[in-house]
Amino acid sequence: MGSANKPTPIPTQEEDLPNPTVALLSFSTDASSNPPRKATATTVLFISLILITCVALSAAVAFAFLFFSSPTSKPYSNESNQTFESIVQVARPLTKLNHSVVLLISSDGFRFGYQFKTSTPNIGRLIDNGTEAERGLIPVFPTLTFPNHYSIVTGLYPAYHGIINNHFVDPYTGESFTMGSHEPKWWLGEPLWETIANHGLKAATYFWPGSEVNKGSWTCPVNYCRNYNGSVPFEERVDTVLQYFDLPSSEIPVFMTLYFEDPDHQGHQVGPDDPEITEAVARIDGMIGRLIEGLEKRGVFEDVHIIMVGDHGMVGTCDKKLIYLDDLAPWIDIPKDWVHSYSPLLAIRPPADFSPSDVVMKMNEGLKSGKFENGKNLKMYLKEELPSRLHYMASDRIPPIIGLVEEGFKVEQKRSNRKECGGAHGYDNDFFSMRTVFIGHGPKFARGQKSFHESEYDARQHGFN
Ligand SMILES: [Zn+2]
Repeated sequence: MGSANKPTPIPTQEEDLPNPTVALLSFSTDASSNPPRKATATTVLFISLILITCVALSAAVAFAFLFFSSPTSKPYSNESNQTFESIVQVARPLTKLNHSVVLLISSDGFRFGYQFKTSTPNIGRLIDNGTEAERGLIPVFPTLTFPNHYSIVTGLYPAYHGIINNHFVDPYTGESFTMGSHEPKWWLGEPLWETIANHGLKAATYFWPGSEVNKGSWTCPVNYCRNYNGSVPFEERVDTVLQYFDLPSSEIPVFMTLYFEDPDHQGHQVGPDDPEITEAVARIDGMIGRLIEGLEKRGVFEDVHIIMVGDHGMVGTCDKKLIYLDDLAPWIDIPKDWVHSYSPLLAIRPPADFSPSDVVMKMNEGLKSGKFENGKNLKMYLKEELPSRLHYMASDRIPPIIGLVEEGFKVEQKRSNRKECGGAHGYDNDFFSMRTVFIGHGPKFARGQKSFHESEYDARQHGFN
């Protein structure tokens, strides 16, 4: 049943659909010969889960393109006579599993385009037989790991799900959030595993930011939820997920996550264009291969919805592309303790007796003076005045002053002799380098589908004009 044996990834039958955009989440081949399936509550829930992943996130820019597939760019809900039920019926039926399963995989810092650095036959197989964001997934701003992973599972922008940075301070209590904070008060919104648990169904998380947090009926159950430990070999993670498919059918979790730290890890150290990245990408492809092989051995590969994403891209940084806050002294002093994060997201909260708009004005005056090294590569904003496309305003956790840094530049407090070349992310999500991948494979994903948002390059307001 392996689709790998089929040489033609793009079914011509798709042209026969009344509205080709419907094909994004369905597949018409054999549709006429399949008896209509009864949509059980579970089936409906899991179709809705796939849609949550795609639809809810469309609100978060990241997945907006999923509603648009070439050659047309109409949202499938418009001018379509196809009902939700009929979309369900053209999806391929399950052959072995009794219920749908969604396996959400993240490869951290998998910049869009990395898949072309080397031979990636396994990722290529998912792409050829599944649905891909042809121009990559646009992450949410800031293009950082925790904000993006939690947007993917909640469908909310960071301002609304509360994880506005990898680390931040609650302005009311003064408490600090770190990547190890698991108290529910930080994590707003409803992640997918909570939705599943609230419906009395089983989810399993092998690492994902927020998954260790008890929320609703989700209690991070032993054996179904791992406490983060970066030293667990990737092979062990894959094999553990595979073992869930050895459980009695009714016990197999309906939603699973799997997380890999690479190639982000290498990207920070050596930048995106180093042989180490190529190696790391090959290794991730190997893990996808290990997963596919294990699923095939169990006869369930074609039944499982695999969604492979990254959280953000990566861009090279180097020692001459630096901006020093201490250089602003002739215009305004920015002491270290005002700065909540430096780079690439510069976030400043001055004490209550300073006017944020006055601080922004003086900083921009210095940056634009022509006497400030690299000044044109940093622009300061009151958060309310950030470009609205960034959706980075509606939370008191976001400090009142935000600086947008030009691609590849870094902000530091003071000059030093440190030579640092490497890679970074967190920049404006308008930069192509911040894009990552989206690949969906499984019964409810069309085969060989490429999709992108046609108006993606239109009407962009860039902050550095
Ligand atoms: Zn990173």
